[in-house]
Amino acid sequence: MASIFTKIIRGEIPSYKIAEDDRFFAFLDINPVSKGHTLVIPKQETDYLFDLNPALLGDLMQFAQKIARALKQTVACKRVGVVVMGLEVPHAHIHLIPMNSEADIDFRKPKPTLTPEEFTALANEIKAGIK
Ligand code: AMP
Repeated sequence: MASIFTKIIRGEIPSYKIAEDDRFFAFLDINPVSKGHTLVIPKQETDYLFDLNPALLGDLMQFAQKIARALKQTVACKRVGVVVMGLEVPHAHIHLIPMNSEADIDFRKPKPTLTPEEFTALANEIKAGIK
């Protein structure tokens, strides 16, 4: 069965899309740890990130770099943190999380809530900043 992220790529499940090309897709995490929390995924459905072909993994990081740069311009933050967990969704993904302190990257803390309109505006703003 297709993963939830494959369904997002196919447009079968809605998402707040930021960018895509023929191999990669980036969208806002629906349950963000901090505002702007973004997921970057390969379209190829592989459960574990480090099972990806090395060249694809490298290119995924380069794609993530473009998103992270746009994200940092959009959301005031010191850095964009990178987290890889993959315990919930068995489709390789990188979390990009705007952060000003270590606490901003704590998945156990109360999460910010955004309206659909705020998610849409944020995704569009990040998208517009991609170079
Ligand atoms: P993990 O697999 O532990 O790295 O976490 C999966 C992440 O995917 C979590 O941060 C979820 O909030 C996020 N997530 C799950 N379903 C969706 C969805 N439909 N749209 C956006 N993000 C999602």
